[in-house]
Amino acid sequence: MKHIAIFPGSFDPFTIGHESIVTRALPLFDKIIICIGYNSEKEQFFPIEKRIQWIKEAFGNNPKIEVESFCGLTVEYCQSKNAKFILRGLRTAADFEYERAIAQINKKMVHELESIFLLTTSEHTPITSTIVRDIIRHGGDALQFLPKVKDPEAYQIK
Ligand code: ADP
Repeated sequence: MKHIAIFPGSFDPFTIGHESIVTRALPLFDKIIICIGYNSEKEQFFPIEKRIQWIKEAFGNNPKIEVESFCGLTVEYCQSKNAKFILRGLRTAADFEYERAIAQINKKMVHELESIFLLTTSEHTPITSTIVRDIIRHGGDALQFLPKVKDPEAYQIK
């Protein structure tokens, strides 16, 4: 049986912290599907299409990685992809409390789903999409926190 993991998130934008979690998790799974969850009522900073493109560029043509978007319940998305694992990153104790509740509820809903957590490496712990967005919104240079892409200038355009 193939071990498929879903890495769900807003990824608005996908940072080097997210990239590191995926790279470190790759040896554990046959396939990782990075999926951008969206809520039509929630305002987004970067368009979904751009976020998908940047994530694909970050991982080149790695055949073990897929990138998609989804709207709805993560557990249902996992079932539709035959994925038994949800990958998440933990930066802080606050992350842990938030993730614990979601993971336990997800398991109540779909018993065979396991959430797998990787602790952030120390250099990536302070990086959040919210801070990166704030830097960009105010015209700063956030490229050191973002994976390499073909056209870095595009990060400056909302
Ligand atoms: P969400 O809106 O679902 O929290 P995010 O895009 O903020 O989505 O994060 C997706 C996942 O990546 C979460 O598990 C989050 O804890 C993790 N993550 C976010 N930033 C980092 C980072 N700098 N290092 C490691 N993991 C991170």
